[in-house]
Amino acid sequence: MHIIEIYKSLQGESSFAGLPCIFVRLAGCNLRCAWCDSEYTFAGGSKMTATAILTEVQRLSPTGGLIEITGGEPMLQERELIPFIRQLLHLNYQLLLETSGERPLESVPRDVHKIVDVKCPGSGEHLRFRLENLATLTAIDELKFVLASRQDYEYAREFIREHELESIQADSRPALILSPAFRKDATGPRAAENCLLNPGDLAQWMLADDLQARLGLQIHKFIWQPQLKGV
Ligand code: SF4
Repeated sequence: MHIIEIYKSLQGESSFAGLPCIFVRLAGCNLRCAWCDSEYTFAGGSKMTATAILTEVQRLSPTGGLIEITGGEPMLQERELIPFIRQLLHLNYQLLLETSGERPLESVPRDVHKIVDVKCPGSGEHLRFRLENLATLTAIDELKFVLASRQDYEYAREFIREHELESIQADSRPALILSPAFRKDATGPRAAENCLLNPGDLAQWMLADDLQARLGLQIHKFIWQPQLKGV
């Protein structure tokens, strides 16, 4: 697989936020989201065998724990990735898979926690979501909407309502996360001013609409300097 980096940090933007986690970041992406903070993944990376990746993962976390497979878009390397994921599950690691929602997800083992983006208009990639992926989601998965504006919020709200995601039975409903986009060129203070959408406004809109979703913040951007990579 083509790998950009493997490192240990705190999970930053899901229901697992705050937990120690090993990140395996794969190279390559077929989307170009306007606010992408991972453009350094678009090209390059080192070719590594599954054995070499596993050795590094085990060095960083020898006794199991949380592994996040991310990118770029990891499912572009599906043919090698899925057997590797099965290997990690067999070793009792807990797996998160961050994906744009554009690639088919039917082949992902059900024990993996899928964190699936639904791109909104401010990303410039909002027509790329693969609707068939909704049928692959269970209660251990998450749908994430990254928002840059009120228009993005309304898009997310209508997507949730149109697909009746709030009314799926609780024991099979994926978590719904609405998260303000962060300025990709943010530097300096670790503050909400770096969000493209004011989290306070988003909170008010969600409460006014009684939207059964969670407001998420990218906590790593508030813990470490926003421009730092590999954290
Ligand atoms: S899908 Fe992710 S990595 Fe690809 S352009 Fe969008 S934000 Fe960046």
